[in-house]
Amino acid sequence: MPLADFISSLQDNPYFGAGFGLVGVGAGLAVLRKASMFGMILFRRHCMMTLEVPCRDKSYQWLLQWITMNARHTQHLSVETTFKQHDTGKISTSFDFVPSVGTHFFYYNKTWIRVERNREQHTLDLHMGVPWETVTLTALGRNKALYFHMLDEARKLALKREEGKTIMYTAMGSEWRQFGHPRKRRPISSVILHEGVANRILSDVREFINTPQWYSERVVTFLGIPYRRGYLLFGPPGCGKSSFITALAGELEYSICILNLSERGLTDDRLQHLMSVAPQQSIILLEDIDAAFVKREESATTKVAYEGLNRVTFSGLLNMLDGVVSAEARILFMTTNYLERLDAALIRPGRVDVKEYIGHATDYQLRLMYERFYPEVATSTNAANDFVNAIKKLEKPVSMAEVQGLFMFYKNDPMGIIENAEKIGTL
Ligand code: ADP
Repeated sequence: MPLADFISSLQDNPYFGAGFGLVGVGAGLAVLRKASMFGMILFRRHCMMTLEVPCRDKSYQWLLQWITMNARHTQHLSVETTFKQHDTGKISTSFDFVPSVGTHFFYYNKTWIRVERNREQHTLDLHMGVPWETVTLTALGRNKALYFHMLDEARKLALKREEGKTIMYTAMGSEWRQFGHPRKRRPISSVILHEGVANRILSDVREFINTPQWYSERVVTFLGIPYRRGYLLFGPPGCGKSSFITALAGELEYSICILNLSERGLTDDRLQHLMSVAPQQSIILLEDIDAAFVKREESATTKVAYEGLNRVTFSGLLNMLDGVVSAEARILFMTTNYLERLDAALIRPGRVDVKEYIGHATDYQLRLMYERFYPEVATSTNAANDFVNAIKKLEKPVSMAEVQGLFMFYKNDPMGIIENAEKIGTL
């Protein structure tokens, strides 16, 4: 059969014709799909903007909070719960809603924005031990200022939440993470220390912060001491060491970075690193410093055991104190209930510049507390003195925490507190 006849017979065959048609349609669709993908890529590249924010970025949490505020119609949220213990011991819980993992849309500045929160199943943020996350925003247009405004608003919103508050950080891996909600600043006058103590510390810190030039010229250059000042508050528990440091941070508008030296996994290198990356304008607080180390001569075996457990070594701590590498003034506070348990090397001048004893309630503190609590009665009568005498008659040292407990019990009874002073510490 000649070729032309063969082809025409195929064309006449209805099955072959239909098959040929299908192949044609399929090929056409494939071309269309390719073209639309290509078109989409071009469109994305030239007419859309994306912004990717990884979870390690500072603005990540701000942005999530801000999106929750703006994407009001989002029904898919995830919760972040925080506990907060108040000074009174009461614990309150608060819930923060943020957009859940997945896709959300919201309208901002006359533009629809797509938010995609992704969680990697197989990648961990090694520092934090949590799954790696990113938020990707996609918007129509080419105006990058949109994202800039958005991030700026998110930052402002976050700062507003922190206004008048003290932020607490804790070390996580090799970085500082905010924990809990920022706390309302505690006025420094609400912590009553013995006469002159609070002022001495406050003016020393102020002088340190306000004279960087003087410091770097003399102390840093001549003496080779880093731009750092160390404070040690020692004395029995419940007398106001921690409360004072919190109030001081509030007064200076500083945040507090709490370091637990006994924490496992906190190695010398990490300690050194954490010091150099601590947030600006923060007080670094090492609480109960005696708990992390015993005196060197006291127990060689315990020290070896400690060192074996991936912890900070004593020499690592000394190195950190001696070599804080930072252009910024570093304020370091240490507290202990047992000064005598501390190694002399730790508290020598240069490492600890100011030592203050925060002891049991003195007459001065008792009187001031009474005057603050019952100002009307205190100014018109001799009740404040009577209260001081009533406590003194007990002939036992009392902490200000115990005094506070008594005042809370007799909050509306300025005479009852004097008559029942012996109940201190039992309520
Ligand atoms: P420390 O750190 O010395 O163990 P804290 O600062 O934790 O003591 O105090 C425990 C509680 O007692 C806090 O609720 C605090 O309000 C109260 N308190 C302790 N000392 C004082 C003080 N000097 N003035 C006012 N309140 C105090």
